[in-house]
Amino acid sequence: MARKLVNEFSWSKSRHEKLSECLRAYYFHYYASWGGWERDAAPRVRQLYLLKKLTNRHAWAGTVVHDAIRDALLDVRAGRPLDEARILSRAHALMRADFKHSRAKGYWREKTRKEFTGLVEHEYDEPVPAESWKGAWTTVEQALGWFFRSRWVELARSLKPEQWLEVDAGFESGIFFLDGVKVFAVPDFAYLDADGHPVVVDWKTGQVRDGYDEQVLGYALYLSHRYRLPVEQVEARLVYVNSGEEVPVRVDPAALAAFRAHFTRSVERMRGLLADVTANEAGPEEQFPPTNELRTCARCNFRRLCGRESAAPQVA
Ligand code: SF4
Repeated sequence: MARKLVNEFSWSKSRHEKLSECLRAYYFHYYASWGGWERDAAPRVRQLYLLKKLTNRHAWAGTVVHDAIRDALLDVRAGRPLDEARILSRAHALMRADFKHSRAKGYWREKTRKEFTGLVEHEYDEPVPAESWKGAWTTVEQALGWFFRSRWVELARSLKPEQWLEVDAGFESGIFFLDGVKVFAVPDFAYLDADGHPVVVDWKTGQVRDGYDEQVLGYALYLSHRYRLPVEQVEARLVYVNSGEEVPVRVDPAALAAFRAHFTRSVERMRGLLADVTANEAGPEEQFPPTNELRTCARCNFRRLCGRESAAPQVA
């Protein structure tokens, strides 16, 4: 008999961001949509579940890049030859198939692959110009082109088997516990350098921007817990694969203390919203008010359910 999934409380950077943006969206995403994958799910629960699984074209391009780099690194790790043309053509074919499926809103009928459901732009018939859709592929092509010529391929080739730690292992294994709370942290790439120091790398598509340090500190803590390494020894880097810029992230006692304080406040706030903390059960929907910030609604997957479809996004 299949094991019944339990909606366990957990923490992640994206969960905190959802909480900060809109309580109603947080409720929809983490509570009201739970079980929407079941055949006998109530129509509203199924709708919420499918809507929450939609992505947008920018995040979609980023995911395709991450997956392709992960596959390339796994090829290197296994000693297989790297075939740039094959990886690029596979990514392009994948995006074409995803686009077709999404444009037809096929996600309401079937799922074609685990990592992709559909695009929010199609769900809400947003008037995205053709150049903007092409831009999603350009981002992928440019990022992968840069990666294959970057120092990272040679660096990966130089690693001995015992130096490899992680290559985007997925949410099933990217877990550690902090103060008894399950935390999700899935590093893109982690290895031991020649001196035995752990290095964690996070690939980023798009422009250099602030706000990622917290995510990478989470990765450093994950590595420290999983491999029993001193966290202060972890070297963390953000690598922007479209511009080629690399930004080191400080992993020192002050940064870690700030992360812990932020984590504790965030968890307290999340738990304070629960009717039953032990069972991770939320109270009624009314206790999670919609935001008044219409710019947030304009890019929200749930806008139909809030009657905010007219808060149309600015298409660029
Ligand atoms: S549409 Fe607006 S109010 Fe409704 S869940 Fe989304 S962000 Fe919140």
